[in-house]
Amino acid sequence: MTTLVFLEHHEGELQKGSLGVLGKAAGLGHPVSGIILGSGVEGLAADAGRYGAATVYVADDLRLEAPLPQPRVDALAQLVEEKGIETVLFAQSILSADIAAALAARLDAGLNWQLVDLEEQDGVLVGKQSALGDSVLVDVGWTSTPRLGLFRAGVFDPVETGGAGTLERLDVRFEEHSLLAEMLEQAHEETSGPSIEDASVIVAGGRGLGAPEGFGMVEELAKALGGAVGATRAVVDAGWYPYASQVGQTGKNVSPALYVACGISGAIQHKVGMQGSKVIVAINKDPNAPIFEFADLGVVGDVNQIVPKLTELVRARSS
Ligand SMILES: Cc1cc2nc3c(=O)[nH]c(=O)nc-3n(C[C@H](O)[C@H](O)[C@H](O)COP(=O)(O)OP(=O)(O)OC[C@H]3O[C@@H](n4cnc5c(N)ncnc54)[C@H](O)[C@@H]3O)c2cc1C
Repeated sequence: MTTLVFLEHHEGELQKGSLGVLGKAAGLGHPVSGIILGSGVEGLAADAGRYGAATVYVADDLRLEAPLPQPRVDALAQLVEEKGIETVLFAQSILSADIAAALAARLDAGLNWQLVDLEEQDGVLVGKQSALGDSVLVDVGWTSTPRLGLFRAGVFDPVETGGAGTLERLDVRFEEHSLLAEMLEQAHEETSGPSIEDASVIVAGGRGLGAPEGFGMVEELAKALGGAVGATRAVVDAGWYPYASQVGQTGKNVSPALYVACGISGAIQHKVGMQGSKVIVAINKDPNAPIFEFADLGVVGDVNQIVPKLTELVRARSS
C-alpha cells in the first residue's frame, strides 16, 4: 500500500495537523511518504522524516512560493502517476481542501473528507467519518485508487518516531493554466500567544458573552492563564470573533489541559471539538445547560461577574 501525505507548512514549520496525519498513516505499518511543496523548503524534509515519512519528496520552486492550489495539484498529480501512489492524505485547511478537491477532479479519484480516523480492515483501508451532527461515526471507503482523504483539523497529535526520511527532489512539470493565478498580497492576522491548536489552556466564549465586546474579558483571562481564545460557531457566524478560533465539528478539534467555556451551551457540534480536553470548566447562568453534563467543574452564574474575578484571582496567584 503506497501512501503519500501532503505536508503543509507555514513560516518555516511543518503544520502540526499534517504531521499528525503522517504519524497516523505511518502507524498503519506501511512505509509512508510525505510531500513538501514551496520555495526554500528543503530544510523541512528532516522534520518530516522524524515524524514518520520514510521518503520525503520535495519540490523547491519559486512557482510554488505562494500558497496557491493549482501548481500543487500539478506536483501531486505528477507524483501519484509516476510512483503509482494509491492513497493521498491531507489535514484539513483552506489550502488543503482546495488542493484535495482539485486533485480529485484531475485524477478522477474519490475523496472522503471530514475524516476523524483511518484503519485497515482485512487489508482494506477504511475511513471513519462523523455523521448526523456527530452523533454517529460511519465507515467510509473507496471503490478505486488513488484514494484521497481529508482529515478534520487536529484529530491526531504528531508522534516523533526519530527516523530519517530519504529525500527525493521533484521537478514539477507545471500546466500552463496552473500558473495563471497570481498572489498579489497576503495579510496575516496579528496574533499574540499560542494558537488554539497548540495551547495547553483555551478560554472559549459563546453567545452568553452578550456582545463582541464580551471577548475582551475572555482574552484577558486567556492572557492571564497563558492560553488561547476559542469560540463557538454561533459567535463566529455573528462576526464576533475570527473563524480561525472556532472549535467544533466545522471548526477545530482541540485537546488542551484546561478548557474554560464561558457562556457556551455545549451543543453536540461544539462538544465534539473539545471533549478531548483534560479538564473542562463551564461558566453558564443556566443550571440546565447541556455543557454541565460533561464539564468537570461547573459554575452557575453570570460570565460578566465571574470571568473578570477569575482573571483577578489568576493574576494574584501568578504574581
Ligand atoms: C452542521 C452544523 C455544524 C456546526 N458546527 C459547529 C461548530 O463547529 N462549533 C460550534 O460551536 N457550533 C457548531 N454548530 C452550532 C451549534 O449547534 C450551536 O448552535 C452553537 O455551538 C451554539 O453556540 P453558543 O453555545 O455560543 O450559543 P447558545 O447555544 O445560544 O448558548 C449560549 C449559552 O450562554 C448562556 N448564557 C447566556 N447569558 C449568559 C451569561 N450572562 N452568563 C453565563 N452564561 C450565559 C446560555 O444559558 C446558553 O447556554 C454547528 C451546527 C450545525 C447544524
